[in-house]
Parts: sequence; structure tokens; C-alpha cells
Amino acid sequence: MKIGVVRESHEGEARVALTPQSAEQIAKLGHECMVEAGAGSRADISDDLYRAAGVEVVETAADVFDRCDVVAKVRPPTEDEVERLREGQTLISFFYPAENEELMKRASEKGATLIAMDMVPRISRAQKMDALSSMANIAGYRAVIESANNFGRFLTGQITAAGKVPPAKVLVVGAGVAGLAAIGTATSLGAITYAFDVRPEVAEQVQSMGAEFVFLDFEGEQGAGEGGYAAPSSPEFREAQLAKFRELAPDIDIVITTALIPNREAPELWTEDMVKAMKPGSVIVDLAAEKGGNCKLTVKDQRIVTDNGVVIIGYTDFPSRMAKQSSTLYATNIRHMLTDLTPGKDGQINHNMDDDVIRGATITHKNDVTWPPPKPKQA
Ligand code: NAD
Repeated sequence: MKIGVVRESHEGEARVALTPQSAEQIAKLGHECMVEAGAGSRADISDDLYRAAGVEVVETAADVFDRCDVVAKVRPPTEDEVERLREGQTLISFFYPAENEELMKRASEKGATLIAMDMVPRISRAQKMDALSSMANIAGYRAVIESANNFGRFLTGQITAAGKVPPAKVLVVGAGVAGLAAIGTATSLGAITYAFDVRPEVAEQVQSMGAEFVFLDFEGEQGAGEGGYAAPSSPEFREAQLAKFRELAPDIDIVITTALIPNREAPELWTEDMVKAMKPGSVIVDLAAEKGGNCKLTVKDQRIVTDNGVVIIGYTDFPSRMAKQSSTLYATNIRHMLTDLTPGKDGQINHNMDDDVIRGATITHKNDVTWPPPKPKQA
């Protein structure tokens, strides 16, 4: 089959869904790869590098859509891209079906199969395809780097001839994939790192990374939900959490917030009075900005400075800001998806809807909308 990748049409998106390395692996499955000219340029991958890996470089996105059996991209397709799909063709990308129901319906009317990388079930067998985690890992790392770049002091403590420098204090709120990556990065840069999550089971993991878990003085239901995700907190729990954050705010230099509950707006956890209590020069990076933000004052996609000199960063494109790294990981996730779709390694796609992972990620197939999927069995 022919597998094609287009240049991302979303303004400012620098990632690409194919790398020369992933193309070589995809060729071993019996497929041929094609890429739109310039698709990798913003991730430092030239057309010549693709050609050297045996990839055909074509002039336009239309060539890719017209000639390929499977089209892969990063961002959800635009209306125009969905209109280009045809019966029997497969499109693999992030899709966020709950937010793009019309596009999903249109693709199913056209008889195209959509595989949403954001719907890959978070079970162990599917980890190699878990593109959300790949991107969250990068976002967590980059959030700390961005905060350090906006912070006027060292993160590590130093004793120098010119005086003693105290280490920075970093608080990470939410210790999921992005949060753990942020904790690892902050501790490795020498910051004193604190972390909080509503799921107390992550405390050990946080401590093993050299950070201190912030425990609440609270008896009763916490916020652990199903499948390793959080459930909304009770009002009493939330109050206890906010009281703890209020106590920490004057002393913390950098706050990285990553708190997320699936299919909801981000919980507001860092309030205006907490921002006001922080020292001038402190930095907040709000990774939940896309979903409304964990900090009350976050402005999506912007860096603002408050009246009391606190920098608040609400960028939602951290993976794209590290396009080479994120393209490498995303292209590998796509390659693993194609491996599972090509069990015979014979260049033939076998779309097995009895496979939990393929079923979970498939949102349209054979003129049907197949989202939401049935609950996956644990593997
Ligand atoms: P995740 O589900 O693995 O982690 C979220 C964590 O937040 C969980 O551990 C959960 O228990 C915790 N949480 C939920 N409610 C909480 C609360 N009230 N207090 C404390 N912790 C709470 O998600 P993830 O994959 O790590 O993604 C984290 C965030 O990063 C998401 O909001 C995601 O959209 C975002 N993200 C941002 C970018 C960007 O460029 N800005 C890129 C990728 C991901």
C-alpha cells in the first residue's frame, strides 16, 4: 500500500508524521512511503533526507491524497482535507472526536476510515502507539525549560566566591505523564521540587524521582478515578488543596500545572490571590491552557506578566516548539500503528476491529461512526 504524509496546514505547526527512520521501518512492512515536498522542513528534515530513505517526494498535498491508501498527519484534518478523502482510504492523525463530530460524520459518509491517535487506549500493549503520552512527555520537559528561560536565577543552588545562591523551588501540580516529565527535568536541573496530585498512588513515583510529594491534611475521598485518571474532587478536598497551595505560594518560584480530568475543562487550582502572593520574577507555566487553564489568570497561547511581576505562560504548542524530537516520537507511534495494521508484513492493511487497540482508535469505518468505542479490556 502507499502511505503518504502531508505538510501540516495548521499555521505554526512544525511537526511532521513521518521521519526517514520511520519510513525505512514502514518499508519493511511492505508499504511504499510518499511525502509532500517541504513537509519536514520545520522539523529539520529536508526532502533529500526523505529521498535517501526511499521516500517519494511529491509536489502537493493533493498528490498525497490522490495517490495514497493511507494518509498520516499530526493535527486533525481540515474540512478541505476531509473532502479529499475517498471510500476505503484511511486517515491517521490526532482527531479529538468529541470536538470534531461534523468532520467525523462527513468522513464516514465518504466511506473513509479515521484512526484517531488521541483515542489509542492507555493500556500497556498500546504504549508504543500512545502519542498523547509522547507529546505530554515533551510538553512537561519543555515547560520546565521555558520556565527556566523566564526565571532570573539559577535553578540549582550554588556556593560561589561571590556568595551563596539558593536553589529554586518548583511546584508541579498533576503528576501524570507531563507532570512526571516536568518533575524529572526540574530535579535534574537542581531545583527543590514539590509535586501534588489527587491520586495518592503516585506519591512513591514522585519521591523516587527526587521530589517531595505534598500531602494534604485531609481524611476522606480523594480524587482517584478509573484507569489511572483523576475524578473530580469533592468540595472539601478542593478546599484542603487550595489551602495548601495558598500556604506554599509565597515560597514557590516556579509552578508548572498539568492537572487534567478527561473530557472536562481543566480544574482551576492556582487562584488570583495565589498569583498575587508569589514573589516578583516567579513563573507559572500552565500546560492546561488549552482546556481553560489551571491558573485563573492564564491567557491561552500567551506569555503575560502580572502587576506584581509574575510571568504566566499559556502556550499550547510546546511539542511543536521541539518539532524534531516530537516528530521522531510521533512518527514512531504512527509506525507502530501501521505495524499492527499490517500483521502479515505483506504491504496489506488488515483493519481488525476485534483488536482492542485498533477498535479503540478507529472512529469511522465502512460508512459508520464507530466512536465512542466500547470499554477496552485491560491488557
Ligand atoms: P494525565 O492524565 O497523564 O495527567 C493529568 C494529571 O492531573 C493526573 O495525574 C491527574 O490525577 C492530575 N489531576 C487531575 N485533577 C487534579 C487536581 N485537582 N489536582 C492535582 N492533580 C490533578 O495527562 P497528561 O498526558 O500528563 O497531560 C497533562 C496536561 O498537559 C493536559 O492538560 C494536556 O492537555 C497538556 N498538554 C499540553 C501541551 C502544551 O503544549 N501545552 C502539550 C501536551 C499536553
